[in-house]
Amino acid sequence: MNATKIKNVAIEAINIPLDEPFTIAIGTKYAIENVLITIQLENGMEGYGEAAPLEPINGENQATALAALNSCREFLIGQDVANYRQIARHLKSVFRAQVTARTAIEMALIDAFTKSLNIPLFQFWGGAEQTIETDYTIDIVTPDVAKLNAAKLKQKGYRTLKTKVGKNLVHDIDRLLAIREGAPDCRLMLDANQGYSPSEAVHFLEELEKNNIHPELFEQPVIKHDLRGMKFVKDHSSVPIGADESVFTVADAINVVQTGCADLINIKLMKSGLVEALDIAAIARSANLGLMIGCMIETKLALGCAVHFAAGLGGFSFIDLDPHLSPNQEPVIGGPAFNDPVYTLPVNLPGIGISKKCPL
Ligand SMILES: [Mg+2]
Repeated sequence: MNATKIKNVAIEAINIPLDEPFTIAIGTKYAIENVLITIQLENGMEGYGEAAPLEPINGENQATALAALNSCREFLIGQDVANYRQIARHLKSVFRAQVTARTAIEMALIDAFTKSLNIPLFQFWGGAEQTIETDYTIDIVTPDVAKLNAAKLKQKGYRTLKTKVGKNLVHDIDRLLAIREGAPDCRLMLDANQGYSPSEAVHFLEELEKNNIHPELFEQPVIKHDLRGMKFVKDHSSVPIGADESVFTVADAINVVQTGCADLINIKLMKSGLVEALDIAAIARSANLGLMIGCMIETKLALGCAVHFAAGLGGFSFIDLDPHLSPNQEPVIGGPAFNDPVYTLPVNLPGIGISKKCPL
């Protein structure tokens, strides 16, 4: 018997309504509709993984993620989690487009493996940092709500606020002015989620300049495949530009490096999987691009895994891992401890450090 072989696999939907709907340039989300995979090893360890599909971003929904994961079940049983890179490579060759399903599997494999090694995941990845500080995202809301939220977040200790833009240039500027009024000393980050044309994006940044607003980062100003458009924005502004939706794969990261269209890459596990995200981080670092980590709408399982990733590798200048659920809404317990706005990595818990609340 090989102790780290997979004995059993369970797949279940996670459905949790959000207290507040979350609106960005490409749509509104009212609930978490994710998928949880649990793998059980011969040695009794369990590894957990989450898929957070978001159709307009990664082309998957809960139904397709469930179907992809269920069809991997038979293949996974009998595999040895110690060979997680080999398993990830094989799954990518078959389920190239189902990246969130693959991410869930990779997460569960690496969680189970590091639990078997009795080592916290962030230490397995290098243990660069023991705490990381996140920003908080204010989505597309009215200026009054934005101002109130900004003041509340500042009071809670947040030093960096991110807001979603790209839907309506005039409203975007009004919201930014309101956020600055609510939290005058907070660092500001903007994310257009591909919502502007290159010239609109430049115009937007010029209008901000006129209003004396100097964001520290402008994420994904234009549609993801328009790297020349993104380069145009970068060449016409001093605000650092971040590539998010433009980078899912190592090939995408190399294109960003070669075109010089961005100053930073936003890594998300749900775009790349864990194994490929490690390679993307290495490319960004080697090319002297900044590193950011972000998330979809996730429970603290996937969020916790991203926290381990950023803390393990270190050197992330922007951390965008704000939780969307209150602790009593979470389907899981444990993981990195969160005390707004700082995550502290669990040195005494192996793997991601998460356990399931029973029943799910
Ligand atoms: Mg983004």
